[in-house]
Amino acid sequence: MHTTSQTPRQTHWNRVLLNAFWIILIVDLSIHMFVSQCLWGQHSDTLTMGEFITQSLIPDSIILTLIIILEFIYRWKPLWSELAITVASHLFALLIIINLNDELYVMSLIMLLPLLVSMIYMKSSYMIASSAVCLLYTIILFIKASNHGYVPITQTIIIVLIFAATALAGFAVIGRGRDLMRSLENSVKSEQELRIQNIIMDRLSKIDPLTDLYNHKTFHEYLGWLIDHQQSNPFPMQLAVMDIDNFKKVNDSYGHSVGDIVLQKVAAILLEHVGPDDFAARFGGEEFVVILTSKTLDHSHEIMKHILTSISDTPFAEMNDKNVTVSIGMHDFIGTDSKNSTFQKADDALYEAKNTGKNKIVIS
Ligand code: GH3
Ligand code: MG
Ligand code: MG
Repeated sequence: MHTTSQTPRQTHWNRVLLNAFWIILIVDLSIHMFVSQCLWGQHSDTLTMGEFITQSLIPDSIILTLIIILEFIYRWKPLWSELAITVASHLFALLIIINLNDELYVMSLIMLLPLLVSMIYMKSSYMIASSAVCLLYTIILFIKASNHGYVPITQTIIIVLIFAATALAGFAVIGRGRDLMRSLENSVKSEQELRIQNIIMDRLSKIDPLTDLYNHKTFHEYLGWLIDHQQSNPFPMQLAVMDIDNFKKVNDSYGHSVGDIVLQKVAAILLEHVGPDDFAARFGGEEFVVILTSKTLDHSHEIMKHILTSISDTPFAEMNDKNVTVSIGMHDFIGTDSKNSTFQKADDALYEAKNTGKNKIVIS
């Protein structure tokens, strides 16, 4: 997968390795200081200043420069950090080895450093490259020792075995790590699917499928919640109950499916007119409710009037361009109202609107 930025985890591990490099440098420097002091103390002719500079100061300065370059890459080119740190781990190991006494054959084990770095990055390609470099290095060391008339067969076998065991362990760790990552990805994916499913279920339980308005249950919950809040923080609120006039006739004359189209259009007109502070729901059948908040009764009345005229001005092609009308009952909430009394008063007003000619708004 092609990535254009580092994950926080990758950045974290780059930082950990850079810190480890600083520690290696400090340890290497301390060893050099300690060894040179011991040697100077005992046989001042064993290690000259020139040798100290070439064997300790120069390689450590190169390592220091490399670490500083890595720090720059870490900061300014983070995408290159991983590769740069892996390559640098080889250079560190080589620099440290080159400057160690030939007799310290076992110190070639410092080449384990690049193998460990590749393991941390969990990259098989780095691991293969690091193993190849280790093998090459062992061969060079063997040839070098042989040229000096000493054939270190046992040491070479031990070192190759250690390299091989580390490389094998590395590949096993990478394989296991990938397994874990895959199962983690799968569980994250199923958790996401579950979350999406929950959102869908939540929506399905709140929304009326035909009109996409909130349903009866949500209306009751929301009205109850608003009235509870009225106790501590009173605010203007009106409830409107709206019913399509003579809707049975629509169904009887044009069929149930045309009736459904009318319901959807009426719901869309409702949504067009209500503001962000308001709430529209399908109460059931051809009956709708609107809760208007933070407005005066006059303002809310205006909004409902617009809805009423907008509906009656809409011709339906499915009904030979005929229209439908609605009747609306409104109640302006007062502090002593309960949820039931609020609804009852708006419904009574609707009843009156129906009984006094329909296609009108009555306020109670
Ligand atoms: P009024 O003016 O007094 O309100 O008369 P009305 O005919 O609108 O009222 P009535 O209660 O007699 O009829 C309502 C009709 O609404 C009856 C029912 O078949 C219809 N209805 C209820 N729900 C749906 C629906 O989801 N789709 C359709 N197409 N019709 C529905
Ligand atoms: Mg009706
Ligand atoms: Mg009705």
